[in-house]
Amino acid sequence: MDMTFDLNAQANKNRNTDGTTEFLRALYRSDDNAAIRMRVDDSCDRFLNASDASDGNSIFDICAKFKHFDMPREGISLEAYLTSLERDVLPHCSHLASPRYLGHMTAPIPQFLPEIGRLIQTLNQNVVKMETSRGLTFLERQVIGMFHREIYRGSDVFYQRYLQTLSSTLGIFTSGGTLANICAVWTALQRAQMNTPIVESDRSAAKIRPVIIGSELMHYSFDKAAELLGAELYKVPVDNQYQINLGAVAQAISSCESEGRRVICLVAVAGSTDYGSVDPLRKLSELAKRANVHFHVDAAWGGGLVLSESNRYLLEGIEFADTVTIDGHKQLMLPIGCGILFFRDPELSEITMHHAPYAVRPTSFDQGRFTLEGTRPATALYLHAAMHVIGKTGYDVLFSDSMARARYMAQAIESRPEFELIVAPTMNLLAYRYLPEEYRNCTLSAEDNEEISAFNVSLQKLQRQKGDSFVSRTFRPVPQYQGQSLTLLRAVLLNPLSTAADIDFLLNDQVAIATQIDEKEHGHAQQ
Ligand SMILES: *Cc1c(COP(=O)(O)O)cnc(C)c1O
Repeated sequence: MDMTFDLNAQANKNRNTDGTTEFLRALYRSDDNAAIRMRVDDSCDRFLNASDASDGNSIFDICAKFKHFDMPREGISLEAYLTSLERDVLPHCSHLASPRYLGHMTAPIPQFLPEIGRLIQTLNQNVVKMETSRGLTFLERQVIGMFHREIYRGSDVFYQRYLQTLSSTLGIFTSGGTLANICAVWTALQRAQMNTPIVESDRSAAKIRPVIIGSELMHYSFDKAAELLGAELYKVPVDNQYQINLGAVAQAISSCESEGRRVICLVAVAGSTDYGSVDPLRKLSELAKRANVHFHVDAAWGGGLVLSESNRYLLEGIEFADTVTIDGHKQLMLPIGCGILFFRDPELSEITMHHAPYAVRPTSFDQGRFTLEGTRPATALYLHAAMHVIGKTGYDVLFSDSMARARYMAQAIESRPEFELIVAPTMNLLAYRYLPEEYRNCTLSAEDNEEISAFNVSLQKLQRQKGDSFVSRTFRPVPQYQGQSLTLLRAVLLNPLSTAADIDFLLNDQVAIATQIDEKEHGHAQQ
């Protein structure tokens, strides 16, 4: 006699919920999923085939649809639920796979990866510890090692020694670049602490707070890291190429030293979020070495390029970084949730090591000893799959095509009097703006620039609302305008399915919208 069944039967009788138990059990069986899978396939196809950037609903109308907060008492059938999703939710997604959606770093993904995702989710392995993931713990370490080798080019002996060792790791998977950066700063801080402990009473005095130096284009995850870890950011200006000013870095280091403040980390950006610019990595590594400071490269956006033989020169010097952040869900076209932090010297991973007696044991294979996160999905399988299915040649072509697309768009922008290109693209990302007619071919004052910024805000919002094409916008100091902060349009050329025709469509769309704004404004002026 099956005891479990017996107990459940008893519980059912007591709570008078006969049908519900059977219903819940049925949810655990996969035999009648075929119909559901077909519906979901249809929804996926609709999403993948959308050519516009979004539905035309206003974001406030969409928000209004999500305002009730009572959890349903009775469950509904999966069929009914899917119907409500198809009607109320899915139409309002961003059409990230559209070739005219050129706005963000969130990529459309190759369609074999959602299938791998189904596998990941069905297996539901937890790579925090070996007992809940077995082989996938080793697979995770293996892909980390493969990628580590692309960055650092270590010897065979090095990888034979460290790939599957118990005592350290070559890197950790994280949910994204933010967490990887936070872990890098954590490592840097602990490292500095080990060298010269900061006395607790000193720590409370603001002037003794450890300092992180990086450019003003540092990602805002460093603001979070600094706040969490009780450190302070020292932001250094960039030059005309949006690269960190090396003289200013040297000055920052020496002024901290003379004030008795400890610099714990020097951050370089390899692919800035706004411009795709890459800081001079080798020179920064030399400065860091001289000052005995941890050198971190935030390559969340640009790091994927190490896999591309013809483009990796852009990341020259990345191999000198103590730690490197990479986001698989950006350039590598993986599903969201694939950040990685690499340690050049695996012993760095031991600095932030933690154990738990019931699960993550010190002498186990548990990756959870090295991660800030606890329970984690086996997203390493996405990278493993992509590395094998796409391969280095595939990634090389993918990146070269995407760079070519950015150059095409830059040319298209420069050839049109309506636009101003802010900087030639280093990577597949560009910043530009629309110039209303009265501001073309003339010297612009700060007031003019403010007008132009306001115009570009309206333009971007209207374009988003209309939904036929999409770019994002940013607000950043621009060196060629004496560091004045300007609103810029920002295009991310990630989608391999975007063509020159899509790029032309987007620019024409912007010109048409701008003309409408112009007409409306002049209409107002005449009234
Ligand atoms: C995107 C990005 C991050 C943050 O990564 P998330 O995955 O969004 O957390 C950090 N740094 C840079 C340069 C980025 O482009």
